[in-house]
Amino acid sequence: MVFHLDKCIGCHTCSIACKNIWTDRKGAEYQWWNNVETKPGTGYPSKWEDQDIYKGGWRRDDAGRIHLRGAGKAKGLLNIFHNPSLPTVEDYYEPFTYNYLNLIEAPAGDDQPTARPVSLITGEPIDVKMGPNWDDDLSGTPDYARNDPNFAALSPAEREAMFQLERMAFFYLPRICNHCLNPACVASCPSGAIYKRGEDGIVLINQKVCRAWRMCVTACPYKKSYYNWHSGKSEKCILCYPRIEAGYAPACMHSCVGRIRYLGVVLYDADRIQAAASAEPGELVDRQLDILMDPFDDTVIAAATANGIPDSTIKAAQDSPTYKFIKQWRMALPLHPEFRTLPMLWYVPPLLPVMASVTQTDGAQESKLHPVAKTWDDTWLYDTSTEELWGSVEQARMPLAYLASLFSAGDTAAVADRLRKLMAVRIYRRWKTVGDVSEAKMTSTLQAAGLTEQSADDIFYLTALAKFNDRFVVPPAHREQAMEMIEFTGDVKGSTGFGFREQPERGL
Ligand code: SF4
Ligand code: SF4
Repeated sequence: MVFHLDKCIGCHTCSIACKNIWTDRKGAEYQWWNNVETKPGTGYPSKWEDQDIYKGGWRRDDAGRIHLRGAGKAKGLLNIFHNPSLPTVEDYYEPFTYNYLNLIEAPAGDDQPTARPVSLITGEPIDVKMGPNWDDDLSGTPDYARNDPNFAALSPAEREAMFQLERMAFFYLPRICNHCLNPACVASCPSGAIYKRGEDGIVLINQKVCRAWRMCVTACPYKKSYYNWHSGKSEKCILCYPRIEAGYAPACMHSCVGRIRYLGVVLYDADRIQAAASAEPGELVDRQLDILMDPFDDTVIAAATANGIPDSTIKAAQDSPTYKFIKQWRMALPLHPEFRTLPMLWYVPPLLPVMASVTQTDGAQESKLHPVAKTWDDTWLYDTSTEELWGSVEQARMPLAYLASLFSAGDTAAVADRLRKLMAVRIYRRWKTVGDVSEAKMTSTLQAAGLTEQSADDIFYLTALAKFNDRFVVPPAHREQAMEMIEFTGDVKGSTGFGFREQPERGL
């Protein structure tokens, strides 16, 4: 999967599409398998990225071996009756609805009737203090955004600059289960209830085998495994696998208003997963990229065929939009690679406003440019429609160190590399359509980003014009493989993470 963050408008349509289909049930009220956070912010559940609190993911020891940070046999036994690393309802939020009936049933009176928030747990009126998109917009309020764990990577000056209104920058971060290659949730489950499907890599929880240990909730560093208090089982995103098997995109992707989401086949070398997950911090992204295979390479095709991969899946890998963004153009990065689960949802980082930054004393520039704001290092940003529109990615309002903390385990060069490509494509298109950029600037920018005019055209097409079938390349399901999976897991109903379906409870 690839999510292009420059395109997300934070409309939450994806979250609602998922909620309506999968988590509109008793015990799942608080669950948002798809949620959209505003960054900077603490997210949902609050501060999920802080593994000092939640003990999720893997850690690497001095010998280069990886271990589950907060789960595993010994730690699991120690925490069997009380697990202090589990998020509480306060960390998620107390699910609530509104007393809408009061709007039409309230007796006549002097005041306008209101719909007060009511807890979905107790049925009592509550004072709402937290929600799944509590940090929404405006960089979050300082109370919440200042607690963003990624700020630890910023200098005090950069941190303060992000809270000044005229220099503010924020972006949306839609999140679902990453269907990781090295999933900590699978490794932590004492019952063996969680598995990664062979034919498409979707990570599922067998509802009949789950014994409610909730080790997966602790172990998932993205907090994308949830406990259902009504059924007594854990649940998670199933990537709408019934839709995928029928050749459709998952509901969150299908409904995405910004068309930011891409889904496709990526072939990988499973024998190198452990080495990639155990890489040095500075090499995590490149080692994960290394195990993603070129679907046009004859050796790869032969090996895939020998391993029983159908021709239609290999063809889908060759047409895959995700392979292009992730490996061919190297424009995407995984979220928090330092958690070492090898997430398979990659993000094109947001370019955000990167406008020319020239000093105030530059008389020549001042005469033709209109100053609009200052950057964190006290240089002026100018609004212009000429070549000076673009500054360098290092001067972006969102500090590189912040994005690197999110997407590259602190490697600012990796983020700058991706942003330079985004900027080069914009400059190329400006040259091509508006014509107020010189050919020399266009050529040098493309070269510096490692792109050609052809690749810039291809990137532009997939970013801005791509139709449904370009964005979602889902190979047809192979019935024989589906039957194998059912036999493997024992029975039909409830065996494939699907047994929790029941009528939604409307309650209040
Ligand atoms: S993101 Fe999904 S696959 Fe990865 S560890 Fe969490 S629940 Fe498991
Ligand atoms: S539907 Fe698409 S554009 Fe809207 S919030 Fe979700 S990911 Fe972003």
